[in-house]
Amino acid sequence: MAFDAIVIGAGHHGLILATYMAKAGLKTLLTERRLTYGGGLSTEEVTLPGFYHNLHSINHFHIEHTPWYRDLQLGEKVPYITPRYEFGQAHRDGSALVFGRDLEETVANIARFSRKDAETFREWNIKAEKITTDVFLPERYAEPLPAEERAQLLGRHPLGREFLDICNRQPLEVVEELFENEHVRLLFLFKVSLFGTWLTDTLNKTSPMGSVIRAFDLTTGYQLCKGGSFNLARGLMERYIEAGGTYWNQCEIERIVIENGRATGIECADGRTAKASSFVASTVDVHQTFENFIGRDQLPEGLRRKLDDFKYTTWSLFGLHLALKEMPRFVAESFDPNIRLTQKWSIGADTMDELNSAHEDVKKNKVPEIIQFGSGPLSVLDPSLAPKGKHVTYAWHVMPHSPDLDGQSFEEFKAEFAQKMIDRWSQYCPNMTRDNILGMYVYTSQEYVHHLPNMRNGDIFMGALSADQVMDRHFGYRTPIQGLYMAGSATHPGGAISGGAGYIVAGLIADELGIRKWWKTEDLRARLASLRN
Ligand SMILES: Cc1cc2nc3c(=O)[nH]c(=O)nc-3n(C[C@H](O)[C@H](O)[C@H](O)COP(=O)(O)OP(=O)(O)OC[C@H]3O[C@@H](n4cnc5c(N)ncnc54)[C@H](O)[C@@H]3O)c2cc1C
Repeated sequence: MAFDAIVIGAGHHGLILATYMAKAGLKTLLTERRLTYGGGLSTEEVTLPGFYHNLHSINHFHIEHTPWYRDLQLGEKVPYITPRYEFGQAHRDGSALVFGRDLEETVANIARFSRKDAETFREWNIKAEKITTDVFLPERYAEPLPAEERAQLLGRHPLGREFLDICNRQPLEVVEELFENEHVRLLFLFKVSLFGTWLTDTLNKTSPMGSVIRAFDLTTGYQLCKGGSFNLARGLMERYIEAGGTYWNQCEIERIVIENGRATGIECADGRTAKASSFVASTVDVHQTFENFIGRDQLPEGLRRKLDDFKYTTWSLFGLHLALKEMPRFVAESFDPNIRLTQKWSIGADTMDELNSAHEDVKKNKVPEIIQFGSGPLSVLDPSLAPKGKHVTYAWHVMPHSPDLDGQSFEEFKAEFAQKMIDRWSQYCPNMTRDNILGMYVYTSQEYVHHLPNMRNGDIFMGALSADQVMDRHFGYRTPIQGLYMAGSATHPGGAISGGAGYIVAGLIADELGIRKWWKTEDLRARLASLRN
């Protein structure tokens, strides 16, 4: 069959790119190897009927304010919930620290642990809110500028210089220097480490994308897709079909056809073929795209080296999904009742030593000895996720993809580790006993790589977000093969539900191929040049 455009992978990046192209009037084909679509937007009744569990992404960053959510008018189809309290950490001594969206309330909460830290936070919050709005968010939705040009533009004014300075420092060092109280430091590290896991890169390396600024802002933040994360995929797919797009599922790509150095189509394992007169774009990982779909022998030497040097995240997530009679009730609710309503809980790491221990164990490919995980009261914030009066929650624990199990079977390990997580939880929430659990489902990287082979070795980001692979050093949207683009998580702004790559590549392809844009894109250079204090 003949199309103008072919997009490989119906995760959110592929859905966004394909919808922009279909709405621009291109005859577009979106292909997906699975029966279902959405990739990391997946919600399933894996425990009991009526209990909806998000098996991959749960906490979506600032979705209602993204340009694609606005352009595709998704507000009409996909409501988002913005909880008042975003990050919370209960401690075994019965205290709790909660960050909300309101500055005064958050400052008062920090002041219960350290007055000095509360004032430091207030001072940084004022700068951070402005930096997030004027720099961090615009940079997330535009092709990154060359590092020197970025530095030069940002260097023209004090706020930009401050942002650059923080991008060049280790988040751990920044947090330790600014804050004195250990609990305050821990919650800030939890906040910058994206998903409540302790990330090697967050602790040890610089953060050129500037995500450390996220420790200090409150207005932007994580949201929940009402009814479950899959609803975002559903809304996107509805828009794509309305725009006249064609969708092929169960389409295992056998090869991307290259003719005279140009990508001209695809062949699927079941014999289906499609031609593309304008472009082919891949939103799956770089190794499947270039090694499996094209073949190393067809690649220029430079690209082969680039693939060999490309790094993946070295940790994965061990997920525990629970159907409950009642939500976890913290001992610490008598200290701060709002801990119960906080979107993202950090549970188990009360000291920096405990935090470091999990981090060191994962680096050594060991199962973490000290249990510490991220969680949240999903059905309290969104009652549609569970039958009336019942609840769902989850716990994500950082874990090596194939930990050294010393001969134990993986199934045994899963059951044993899940029990250890529940035991740890009950130290903070005494009602987290077996008696409260109606159903339980363990989902580790061993399972999710089976469903999403693009998450290689359990890498939820499809590429390490390390300093040498982000901003203008990302994998790149353009390829040496004419008519072939990369539009997935290996490209800026990287993995996670941001939609950034799909949105940016839609604009870039439109500009390069002379497609009339029905949407407005922002000129990042002009935006940074016009920064005001
Ligand atoms: C346990 C877990 C928890 C997470 N939590 C969060 C969170 O809370 N917040 C957040 O923002 N992110 C989270 N993530 C990460 C997030 O899910 C991913 O970063 C995101 O899904 C990436 O989107 P994508 O469109 O690039 O890729 P995907 O969502 O992976 O979509 C890629 C699509 O391509 C398809 N595909 C793969 N190979 C082929 C092929 N050969 N041919 C055709 N199609 C193919 C896949 O089936 C899939 O549908 C989590 C991930 C995991 C695993």
